[in-house]
Amino acid sequence: MRGIKTGLLRDVETRPRIAGDAFKSKPVANRLYQTSTMAALLDAVYDGETTLDELLQHGNFGLGTFNALDGEMIVTNGVARQFRAEGVAAQAPGSLKTPFACVTYFEPEQCFNIDRPLGKEGFEAEVDRLVGNPNLFAAVRFTGQFERVETRTVFCQCQPYPHMLEVVKKQPTFSMESVNGTMIGFRTPAYMQGVNVAGYHVHFLTEDCARGGHVTDYKVTRGQLEVATIADLDIRLPRTQQFAQANLNPEHLHDAIMEAEGG
Ligand SMILES: [Zn+2]
Repeated sequence: MRGIKTGLLRDVETRPRIAGDAFKSKPVANRLYQTSTMAALLDAVYDGETTLDELLQHGNFGLGTFNALDGEMIVTNGVARQFRAEGVAAQAPGSLKTPFACVTYFEPEQCFNIDRPLGKEGFEAEVDRLVGNPNLFAAVRFTGQFERVETRTVFCQCQPYPHMLEVVKKQPTFSMESVNGTMIGFRTPAYMQGVNVAGYHVHFLTEDCARGGHVTDYKVTRGQLEVATIADLDIRLPRTQQFAQANLNPEHLHDAIMEAEGG
């Protein structure tokens, strides 16, 4: 296996944004735009004020969830899809709102062909090796064949909202075998636990765009891995009552996030 520097997707601006209007029309590549925080989502801040239309102005690639925790979100090629409780994907209307989402204009910095089966651990080690720097965020996309993908999605919740650890106890899970698709997401540095999900957070969409969800485990067979480092963050914190009243620094935050978001 050999890494190759690529010049793909040069349609987005890679230079820093400068004062004035010069680059207004061109988005900045590999800048993470995030609404709210993972700790807030964990503490049942399930309603946000950002619409998908607004979110998609800040990236064409990413993941998240929807208000009232109504399913998992994946954004690929500028299209936001919603996996509701059945794990079936549908294009989400732009008026829907999100309490937590991360998007970027993904421009791969490195591309790598995977030609042997790799489980979650081996795959993550490969991405770590490619990315190098553990202290930056990274955006990750794998397109190809999977021997197996385990996903989950979440149910729409009613107020008063239960804590996320209660929700995930009842999460519907799905297992797909011998499936082609795209797995995308982010690697967050350990020191950002709570702001985002430390380590890997990836979502999956089948090649036919029909199914997917939040990935808990997988084994890839072969395909193309693309990565980019992210050093530029744009995090929008909600000015809502829910967020104001949330406990964002609980004991055992790390363990709770691992339980809620991990494999
Ligand atoms: Zn997720």
